[in-house]
Amino acid sequence: MPDEIEPPRWYRKHYTCTCGCQWEDEWDCLCNDRCPSCNLEIECDDYVEIEMSPEEIKRRVAF
Ligand SMILES: [Zn+2]
Repeated sequence: MPDEIEPPRWYRKHYTCTCGCQWEDEWDCLCNDRCPSCNLEIECDDYVEIEMSPEEIKRRVAF
């Protein structure tokens, strides 16, 4: 079905900025993040998918 809802996922993402700053972030999508040092928008260059229950993910994105 085309409008079937995918089960939620949780990712731990790794970013490397051109300024040399590296950091990790966790979220339910592979979106870009801003460098904590120079505020440049960076695409994640590595990630791992973490096993987490849909209830736990909902709780985390509710903020
Ligand atoms: Zn930076």
